[in-house]
Amino acid sequence: MSCNYADGLSPYEDKGVCGLDEKFDTDETLRLKCELLADWIKGARHVVVHTGAGVSTSAGIPDFRGPNGVWTLEQKGLKPTSSISFDDAIPTKSHMALKKLIDTGKVKFIISQNIDGLHLRSGIPRQFLAELHGNMFIEQCDKCGRQFIRNFATKSVGKKCLETVCRSEQIGGRPCRGKMHDTILDWEHNLPDNDLALADLHSSVADLSICLGTTLQIIPSGNLPLYTKKYGGRLVICNLQPTKHDKKADLIINGKLDNVIESVMKKLGLEIPEYETSLDPTRNTEINSREMDWTIPTSRVKDMKILYKKVCAPVKRKRRATFMYERDITTYPIKRKEKKQEFKVKKEEIGNGSSINVKNEPSETNNDLVPKLESINDDFNEASAYFQEQNTVT
Ligand SMILES: [Zn+2]
Repeated sequence: MSCNYADGLSPYEDKGVCGLDEKFDTDETLRLKCELLADWIKGARHVVVHTGAGVSTSAGIPDFRGPNGVWTLEQKGLKPTSSISFDDAIPTKSHMALKKLIDTGKVKFIISQNIDGLHLRSGIPRQFLAELHGNMFIEQCDKCGRQFIRNFATKSVGKKCLETVCRSEQIGGRPCRGKMHDTILDWEHNLPDNDLALADLHSSVADLSICLGTTLQIIPSGNLPLYTKKYGGRLVICNLQPTKHDKKADLIINGKLDNVIESVMKKLGLEIPEYETSLDPTRNTEINSREMDWTIPTSRVKDMKILYKKVCAPVKRKRRATFMYERDITTYPIKRKEKKQEFKVKKEEIGNGSSINVKNEPSETNNDLVPKLESINDDFNEASAYFQEQNTVT
């Protein structure tokens, strides 16, 4: 059962705002919003997608803070009635659409808070993915730090020892006597360095960040999309519940994710591929052992830093001198508390006795369907050529 993952974590009280009412756009509004998002994707040069538990609910894996989420039910002393095992779950339409968007270069990078491994299993290569909270299908050596793909989900969470030896030699590396550990973060753990570095740099370089199925409450993951705004890009939030950063979004889409993605893909003229076991490295038995290596090379972070300097340095925005991942690591554990006042949602009664959620202060940028940021900063133009170059190399 995938919800058992939550049981493996240590007790922790501040799990954020849970169980807020879901909101659904009307069919016509949804159609217009999807059309607008497709246009923005077409016109963007560097799209980054941030995914949360909402992308996996249609695979049968419960989310955390939705009306039937794990933490929402926990507050009522309940547990999800059904949840599929991580081994039995398969990538959803949204996962497969994202793979297609990566393959076609429309999306440059995916940053996921999910530990279900469904992005990996959709066939997305490592270089396009940051997994900030770990992956049930990945194990890591405590000595050399290498990560390897597993054929079945780990039984433990919280970076515990799996009692198997490092597979470094099998991928052509030096013999290593380290022991393998699961990669699933517990509340107090710091995020994986290279994943966080790439996530930070890509979010800053992006001119369009799309958040799918996350209330953006967990930090630092939830704050990464704001870097796109900081450097002049757009922020799109697609979620049924209100999120912590709704006020900052240029577009909010309240619809079922698979439907939204399907509609956007149609507008882009792209077909959503079916899930195939031959592309799923956890299921493909023909795969060679070298392809089981899931380690991010440090050279990739260096390359992204060069790109960051070219794209973001000319944009004179205020930013602290160091990157998030370069600061004292103890400052950024997964759970750090923030001031709660920013994320208050009040209920307002409407005529028929039911209630709707409204934000404390209405934002002028929300849901207005008018592309406010018609042109990206001119300084980006010079960088575009560099992007083209980079894309052909990788
Ligand atoms: Zn090792």
